[in-house]
Amino acid sequence: MPETQHDTSRPLSREAALELAERHLCPDRVRTLRALGVDIVMGRREGYRIWDVDGREFLDLHLNGGVYNLGHRHPELLAVLVQALESLDIGNHHFPSVERALLAEQLVGLTPGAQYAVFASGGGEAVDLAIKSARRATGRTKVVSVTGGYHGHTGLALAAGDERAASAFFSPGAPGEFAHVAYDDLDAIERELSAGDVAAVVLESVPATVGFPVASPGYLAGVRALCDASGALYVADEVQTGLGRTGHLWAIQAAGAGHDVPVPDVLVCGKGLSGGLYPIAATMLSERAGRWLEDDGWSHVSTFGGSEIGCRVARAVLDLTTRDSTRARVDSLIGRFASGLTTLVEANPERLAEVRQTGLVIGLRTTHPQGGMLLTRELHRLGVWAMFAGFDPSCLQIKPGLLLDDASADLALERLGAAVASLPAGGAS
Ligand code: PMP
Repeated sequence: MPETQHDTSRPLSREAALELAERHLCPDRVRTLRALGVDIVMGRREGYRIWDVDGREFLDLHLNGGVYNLGHRHPELLAVLVQALESLDIGNHHFPSVERALLAEQLVGLTPGAQYAVFASGGGEAVDLAIKSARRATGRTKVVSVTGGYHGHTGLALAAGDERAASAFFSPGAPGEFAHVAYDDLDAIERELSAGDVAAVVLESVPATVGFPVASPGYLAGVRALCDASGALYVADEVQTGLGRTGHLWAIQAAGAGHDVPVPDVLVCGKGLSGGLYPIAATMLSERAGRWLEDDGWSHVSTFGGSEIGCRVARAVLDLTTRDSTRARVDSLIGRFASGLTTLVEANPERLAEVRQTGLVIGLRTTHPQGGMLLTRELHRLGVWAMFAGFDPSCLQIKPGLLLDDASADLALERLGAAVASLPAGGAS
């Protein structure tokens, strides 16, 4: 065995795993997390608990952005996966398949305005498809989104391939053009749309990476109306906010409570659709956005997108997510976190600026520019994994699971309270 190779017959220690990851996997990420005091290497995981390989227990309030909405290794989902493995595999992406067709039907039935579903292996790929569809539908290339938005890291492979691999089919004319405007500013979007050259407005329904700010009532309905007026498509990125997190299946429906639901032309879903067990994402397309599917059946393909095993798991995820008992649990948790966090903010005016809550999509803004990071560090010490907002480290993201029990919710709130007490009072001083 070469000197540098580890004995894989025995589990790696945390230190050895960190050292190996720092050398070959993600050096800067390991160093940055360690500098923050976070050195988790995940071992056992169950429900809303994770244990590092040394056995330290953490309550998971991050859920990998919603991948574990239903918990880690939910027994029902595991059973579906194990059963699927007895007869299925990835399938052949050229053929229609029973599993893909059934999942498409289910997702289209659950998504306002949708006519088609296209599957991907991750959220970025699914967002790429949303943008390609909008370009094809409008014959335009420009895309408008918001500063602080996050939609994934993909998007270059198509441009690198031969034009016959469909870059011409989806991207007519000039190379793509992207404009970013301030969030919650309809006038800014209107200005961008005024020339009539925008293919799509792409928005997370609540932007995660800036700490889930809550838009003015009617913002998304306003975006919808502006898109209608200019012929652009409205793309709702619900990779983090979808699948029941807001108390509705989709956050656009939460935004529509008391207003018109801003029905998007395209809705993108990922993360939690996997059940945390088998990667899958989906792009739901309206008749207009998905017309290309009628024109050319091979203009977009993805070998692993819509793997049959993943489809089977995703259907079980949707069944579990939409079940009455799950919805009731979410409603109860929304109230519990609302009252706990409101009390916490009221008790700590010098440390906390604001709680931003859309159901179980929650951001806590501190008065300290690095307050979210400080909370991440302190919560880690207290046995809670919750992460600051990457584009605004003054904020902490709080993403409780849909099936979290009351005792764990109370524990989360109690430890949040203790972590907040450790923040310097009065902001940056
Ligand atoms: N959109 C949003 C809103 C996301 O949060 C993410 C992932 N954090 C993505 C898209 C990209 O998903 P993936 O990492 O699966 O490509």
